[in-house]
Amino acid sequence: MKDVFCSLGSNLGDREHWLNSAVAALHDHPVYAIERAPIYETAPVGMVDQPSFLNTAVGFKTALDPQQLLSLILDIERDLGRKRRIKWGPRTIDIDIIFYGKEIIETEKLTVPHPRFAERKFVLVPLSDLIPNFIPPGFSLPVNKILQNCGDDSAIQKYETGNRPE
Ligand code: ATP
Ligand code: CA
Ligand code: CA
Repeated sequence: MKDVFCSLGSNLGDREHWLNSAVAALHDHPVYAIERAPIYETAPVGMVDQPSFLNTAVGFKTALDPQQLLSLILDIERDLGRKRRIKWGPRTIDIDIIFYGKEIIETEKLTVPHPRFAERKFVLVPLSDLIPNFIPPGFSLPVNKILQNCGDDSAIQKYETGNRPE
């Protein structure tokens, strides 16, 4: 079993619902001891003219290999109605594999640790709630220090969950 950490984001429609549905979907698969970080609201980066994101992170244990895990998350994204239209554009759900144990993976379809996690506060903040002291493979500092050193100055705040308008 490997300890896996994924980043989740949504900025279309009922964003909290999409995050909760993605975590619920994981429960239907051979992944265990799922733990969730709080949800955060973050201003969009890259393409700024779109709704703000809700982001969170999950950790779990699994015996799925990296390729199987990638297929699983792409299936969940598809089931939750994600349409791949615009690079970095709005999406119901985005699930990225950030860490797969201490493994470094570089294939055509999969790069782990995720190549941009260290420059994204919306990934590091929830991750730091789960594993502040984890030193990612290829890094010399733990996640909480990588967060401190991260130059991303976009706004991020804890999201009041279950508080949706009727
Ligand atoms: P970014 O990677 O900058 O966060 P994105 O999440 O919007 O951008 P997607 O369109 O969701 O990009 O993903 C495109 C492809 O990235 C996926 O189909 C997958 O093959 C590949 N990929 C490579 N590494 C990873 C990873 N660690 N987690 C998820 N997908 C990955
Ligand atoms: Ca992403
Ligand atoms: Ca993705």
